[in-house]
Amino acid sequence: MTTHSSNSSIYCDYLNPSNGKPCNHFKLYKSNFCHKKTHHPDPILYKGTIQSVRNHFQSISSPIPSIEHIQFYNPPMNGACLYSCFVKYLMNHISVYENAENPFHDLIHCYISNLGTDADFSLEQFNTNVYRMQILLKDYICEHRDDYIIDGITWSFLIEECHQMSIRDYDMYYNISASEENRINKRPIPSRWGSMAELLAFSKIFGIPIRIYKTIRINAKYQIVECFPHFDDMRLQFVQDVHVAIDQDSENQKSPTIEINEWSSDRTIHLIHVQNHYSLVYGHIV
Ligand SMILES: [Zn+2]
Repeated sequence: MTTHSSNSSIYCDYLNPSNGKPCNHFKLYKSNFCHKKTHHPDPILYKGTIQSVRNHFQSISSPIPSIEHIQFYNPPMNGACLYSCFVKYLMNHISVYENAENPFHDLIHCYISNLGTDADFSLEQFNTNVYRMQILLKDYICEHRDDYIIDGITWSFLIEECHQMSIRDYDMYYNISASEENRINKRPIPSRWGSMAELLAFSKIFGIPIRIYKTIRINAKYQIVECFPHFDDMRLQFVQDVHVAIDQDSENQKSPTIEINEWSSDRTIHLIHVQNHYSLVYGHIV
């Protein structure tokens, strides 16, 4: 079969018969045409194409677990969303960590014991805890800057990769809350956020595996798109697991590896990462 150049394009092959102009909508999955039925040469094929979009969507995603049992925590979009998710998670699982045997027990205990009590728990207190989380992870990473995480990658290297700054600059700039303005005394400073480095550091210190998803849906143009987790028809697409086993080398350390295939595991953090924004899935998942 001969093809013309537009076949490799991401745009619909339909040409407007009156002026010969190409359609500027995206092709549907495994089709040469867009969502407009009239642009497809064959209505039967159109139906099949729509079905294959739906099938593909199903095959790359899993349903949201019984929605009445879970909640989504959507932090403000201020750069501190990942730190906020960590704090929210800990608030819901304090009992797990209060007496946990863990090489970082002192660090965890110090953090947890200053979370605040119900009585004084306010937005201000929460924001303080978010900032304390940022500092806890930053300090850990900087103190272990030359340690290898995995495969010859040091924390220092990972910071450069994730934040495009040296570990020394990270140590300095990440003293400033990610939610604060990106300027000091009118001088601009780099924006701050939680990246793969902080995900790994949190997972390592607290001994928690982290599973990351995207929420996706089929939009009105039959494209499979990322969406913020507010839609009834959304599904979860697995992105990756993040987990660093705690000091495997040292004796007496049991690997904290937990079976993380189970949604019902209380000891896995489930995060949604869409458009550079993290949300937390929490509650009892069945
Ligand atoms: Zn079209």
